[in-house]
Amino acid sequence: MDIIDEIIEAGKKLMEFGMIESSHSGNLSARINDKIYIKKHGRMMGYLKREDIIELDMNSEEGYSEASVEVYAHRNIYLNSDAKAIVHAHTPYAIVLSLLYDKIEPVDEEGKFYLENIPVIVAERAVASMEIAEKLGEVMRENRVAVIRGHGTFAIGENLDEAIKYLTLCESISHISYLFHLYKGGVH
Ligand SMILES: [Zn+2]
Repeated sequence: MDIIDEIIEAGKKLMEFGMIESSHSGNLSARINDKIYIKKHGRMMGYLKREDIIELDMNSEEGYSEASVEVYAHRNIYLNSDAKAIVHAHTPYAIVLSLLYDKIEPVDEEGKFYLENIPVIVAERAVASMEIAEKLGEVMRENRVAVIRGHGTFAIGENLDEAIKYLTLCESISHISYLFHLYKGGVH
């Protein structure tokens, strides 16, 4: 199984975990040395084929226009952190909480065990912008997962499974926190 097969498998796992709300949303990539392997723009993350993944060089922008619109965010995260894989999805509960709070704090014990809090990144242009790429590069130096306000979650790992772990953990934390605040007397 090579890195392209691993990316295809990771896309399926994200779908099976319910992390893909709209068919063509989200993206994922893996890094080997100076090469980034990333989903092409407009492909369905849960049904990727080998030709849907493009190999890019970190040091040249050739082919970037074919890649996911968040390709610069992926590259900047790789340039600024030890990440070997990145997953991004439009996770509904994390998006809702990101619109209400400046950071997402776990109320459940599993969430607290792994994460003290999850940063929320605020940007004028929250999709496919250099502003997002720069802010993610900075935030992911110190964090495994972050949420772009009103847009979605980015998670990194030493491999794709670890990135998926943090992305699904973030959504689980957000889901439980949402329900907790709702039953306690309204998400405020
Ligand atoms: Zn997105």
